[in-house]
Amino acid sequence: MSKSESLSIIKLAERITTEAEAYKMLEDMRWGEDLSRQSCPKCASVRKFYFIKPKEGETRKTNRGTATQRRRWKCADCRHQFSVLTGTIFHGTHISVRKWLFVIFEMCASKNGISAREIERKYELTAKSAWFMTHRIREAMKREPLAGLLANTTVVADETFIGGKPKNKHRQGRPARLGGRGPGGTVGKTAVLSLVDKSSGEVRSRVVPDVSGDTLKEAIADQVDTPSSHLHTDGWLGYRKLGRDFESHEYVDHSTYEYVRGDVSTNQAENYFSQLKRGLDGTHHHVSTKHLHRYLAEFDFRYTTRTVSDTERMRKLVDQTQGRRLSWKPVTER
Ligand SMILES: [Zn+2]
Repeated sequence: MSKSESLSIIKLAERITTEAEAYKMLEDMRWGEDLSRQSCPKCASVRKFYFIKPKEGETRKTNRGTATQRRRWKCADCRHQFSVLTGTIFHGTHISVRKWLFVIFEMCASKNGISAREIERKYELTAKSAWFMTHRIREAMKREPLAGLLANTTVVADETFIGGKPKNKHRQGRPARLGGRGPGGTVGKTAVLSLVDKSSGEVRSRVVPDVSGDTLKEAIADQVDTPSSHLHTDGWLGYRKLGRDFESHEYVDHSTYEYVRGDVSTNQAENYFSQLKRGLDGTHHHVSTKHLHRYLAEFDFRYTTRTVSDTERMRKLVDQTQGRRLSWKPVTER
């Protein structure tokens, strides 16, 4: 698949009519058309790989005795055998690679996300398979573990509350004074802090226990090199003290209807939150606090890559599938 090719679900369906074609596309996306980016999932060597020719024809038998189009290579350094699925989110899957690629495309291309229920219906999967599949894909959407701090930039910080009936409320629930719990109440809601890097457009969201100054300070210091960066927020008192750690801190005062002053605003974060809430309300209906961080990874990923094509976003995701294995246990355990 060429870099510039723009994919639609129809084009994707035409490109991968067989499982063999789906494998080829996944190999192209992960390793390049000439396999030049192939690396050993065991020893990380990139030196030399031997293609293991199937004994007869194109297919081989899996451990369970079924025919598969999966192609295998052997690492010249550690003799480990692997396929394009080894050590990735696809590892050990019983679902066809075709279905994986369709679901990945849909999750990359739809702004509000796609529910496990819809995937179950569309792709004739069990509820459990569909649900686990979406969480594995979210695992690949997570930021690179070594992504490092946001630095030498302007960061917009803002928080919101997720959950609560009848609709997710923004702001109303925030206590009037620092650490307090005013009328409207934040009980039963989960606080989310989002940081938007104004230069790169990258967003980083996380669940926070509360929105007190101390909590925000810690969560922000974890993500941002504060001395080299500027901070833009609203007038929330929780930001005042930690703002001094930044090169500068400017805020707009929403209580006096000030939303933009020069280049200072929290609009990027507000836009992100409305997208997130549309997705959580409209598509996913109810997301438990326990799984919220996975959905944040999904919405962060799409927002951060919003200026690239759906194809490029899909390629980026496939790039991040290695080393992101997710077992059933952490998803289901309480
Ligand atoms: Zn190796």
